[in-house]
Amino acid sequence: MLVLPLIALLAQLIGAPIDELPLTPAGCLIVSPNLDALVTCLDTFTVPHDYYSQLTYAVAQPMPAQRVAFSDAVRTLLSVDGDCATKQVSSALVGLYAFAPFRGHCVLFETSSNCGTYAKGWGFAIVPARASGVQRMLHVSAPHPAYDLGTVEQAAAVYEGSGGRSLLVAGRKRTAFLASSGCVKGAPRRAYYMTDPAHNDQEPFFDASAALYAWQHAQPDGCVPGACAFLQLHGKGAATCPNDAVFISAGLSNSTVALPLYTTPMHPPARLAAALSTAFPSAKISTPATSRCALTATQNVVGRASNGVPPSSVCAQPARVRDVDGTWLHAEQSSAMRERGAYAAWVEAVKAAVAPVAVDVPREELGEGSGGGEVRVLVDAEHRVAPAAWSAWLLFAHYFALR
Ligand SMILES: [Zn+2]
Repeated sequence: MLVLPLIALLAQLIGAPIDELPLTPAGCLIVSPNLDALVTCLDTFTVPHDYYSQLTYAVAQPMPAQRVAFSDAVRTLLSVDGDCATKQVSSALVGLYAFAPFRGHCVLFETSSNCGTYAKGWGFAIVPARASGVQRMLHVSAPHPAYDLGTVEQAAAVYEGSGGRSLLVAGRKRTAFLASSGCVKGAPRRAYYMTDPAHNDQEPFFDASAALYAWQHAQPDGCVPGACAFLQLHGKGAATCPNDAVFISAGLSNSTVALPLYTTPMHPPARLAAALSTAFPSAKISTPATSRCALTATQNVVGRASNGVPPSSVCAQPARVRDVDGTWLHAEQSSAMRERGAYAAWVEAVKAAVAPVAVDVPREELGEGSGGGEVRVLVDAEHRVAPAAWSAWLLFAHYFALR
């Protein structure tokens, strides 16, 4: 790389220590030793609290062609298979976004910034650099950077540790523009803001989430409950639902009709809650079936769109119970559950709750002789599971039989 000597030269020229140089988002990819450091570095560019006026927010919002191009870029990212360095954004995003390889991953990130803040703040996304690096059809996201503290790094750790399909992080603090959301407005004393992508469908994070959802559902297997999930990570204050360490929701409340989603063991929200209870034996892991916590995410626009509501109706229309399959998972967490010390257990829980992907492997590679042909196996981080593990798929069959 020529860039590092250039940075060193620049440091020499201006007489500053190299680590005190003002970084650009692209600089984060150069200086970060691992994914955790990369997302921490990129997060420093997140558009901060009360940053926008009506005018500056309008300027930072994508033009219609840029909205399309941004969704296209997310789709392109998902197509990466060893060719990250050759991927290009379309003309509407030139000078604003780029693809870049990073230590076994491919990053779609905003390259433009002003004085340490993203010029646009549409967020970033990361996928494994090779398709073979995907172990789970798991899409992890952090919609509330700089507010739900620790969720950016945690989401990256869960994505990386479980061999996830994608990581998506918003680029604006939810309070970056304090005007009331024109989409889901919230209660009078708890209004939602324009830059809250969980409650405003005009935020680019919503477009990126929709692109991830559409891509996943266009795959041959679609998004099979138990083998595919969209996990949105949040953090709650100590005074909110204080007894719940993690509160899992599928975007439905605890109404009688919704309850089976949380009480039937093979349903994804119940599975994740059980896996978390095993991974964190002393923490109270709850769902709407076991807690009266109000953070059920019924107004979350990404949740609604992922639960069968047409994207054009997410501001007003709640999800219908019969459309919810539990593949969209919303986790509200205490601060302790977002700390680095909790990552390993979180990864174990997610690996237990979301089955690994199936791939075709040559018989010879499995030590099954040299007769040729391939065998379908489930891939896991540590080992390739023999076809006997198809029992996991029987679980899904059972799941569908229940519905
Ligand atoms: Zn949140």
